Amino acid sequence: MSKIATINTYPISAPLKRRYHTAHESRDDVTLLLVEVVTDDDIKGYGQVSSTPMKDIATWVSKLAPHVIGMNALAHGDVWEKLFALTSPQPGAGGLPRNARPQIMGAIAGIDMALWDIKGKAAGMPVYRLLGADNKPVFTYGTGGYYVEGAKLTACAEELAGFVARGYKAVKLKTGADTIANEVRRIAATRAAIGPDISLMLDMNAAYDLPACIEFARAVEPYNIFWLEEPLHWYLQPADFALLAKATPIPLAHGERELTRFTTRDFMTLGGIRYVQFDSTRYAGFTESLRVAHMADHAGVMITPHHAPELHCHLVAAFPRTGFAVESHGSPDRDPIWHGLFSDRAQIRDSYVHMNDKPGFGIEIDWNYAKKHAA
Ligand SMILES: [Mg+2]
Repeated sequence: MSKIATINTYPISAPLKRRYHTAHESRDDVTLLLVEVVTDDDIKGYGQVSSTPMKDIATWVSKLAPHVIGMNALAHGDVWEKLFALTSPQPGAGGLPRNARPQIMGAIAGIDMALWDIKGKAAGMPVYRLLGADNKPVFTYGTGGYYVEGAKLTACAEELAGFVARGYKAVKLKTGADTIANEVRRIAATRAAIGPDISLMLDMNAAYDLPACIEFARAVEPYNIFWLEEPLHWYLQPADFALLAKATPIPLAHGERELTRFTTRDFMTLGGIRYVQFDSTRYAGFTESLRVAHMADHAGVMITPHHAPELHCHLVAAFPRTGFAVESHGSPDRDPIWHGLFSDRAQIRDSYVHMNDKPGFGIEIDWNYAKKHAA
């Protein structure tokens, strides 16, 4: 039996060449918290946490560690339940603070994913194989069209046409930061530049209330839009999504900001979403992602996790009917850590992720890069 012996964290940050904006936020750098779980028989597993603040999440990893050290490293379900239970009151012991809930769920994500990596390494199998999948290419779309200060309104069209020229069959445009009239100009220019055969998703980063979103959806319908992602303000609920789903034929995508399977379930069963984007690396980990994927498969909702294509490809590969795609950044400039941190991982070519046959998630860390970019 492999027991959990130590848990370490490595916060990593890399600067972006230029500042990128979405409808909601802007950023100058990208960050990743690497979580390393080591077993008493010296198997090392790696989890990744993409939510922030990294230092707070790293502190929570170290506070959670004593609760799981000594547990069977292959019993990821027991470990997950033990950690998740701490977030609710325990008789005589209270619960972990409510105001740190997203960071605690991030810490659980990192530990959980490292245990899946360990499980694969202990079994000598890739994670996709543990889940019953074959090594087959997993579809990926390229995200771009971020807002850049000083760039012309339709610069996104050229950029996304560039992704298509490099092999992407589907591209996703950031939208929602400008007036609806200007957004329609960006979308029309992008559709003209990529041609009629490429799928075009729109990521709205929660820019609208319901009436404005219905107006937006009607205005973009002529451009053959594949999905509207995170269409509504953060506080709007499955009932609001259901109204939107009734008002537009464009499918809705959602889930990247959800902390657990329980809220994600309601967007699938009540909210009318047709693509689910739960992100293992933000909250709750691969174990929760797998539960979400099973629910999606039951409900006929397509599985298309947010970011981390080298990890989420293992999940999507395991659902031949409803595993649709993983997300990747169309431009290396937007994701320097993905291009620098790994000496081996799945590769992206021609709009597909190609997995290797190494055990676990099939990733190797370039520790020189990790040290150089230690945050
Ligand atoms: Mg998004």
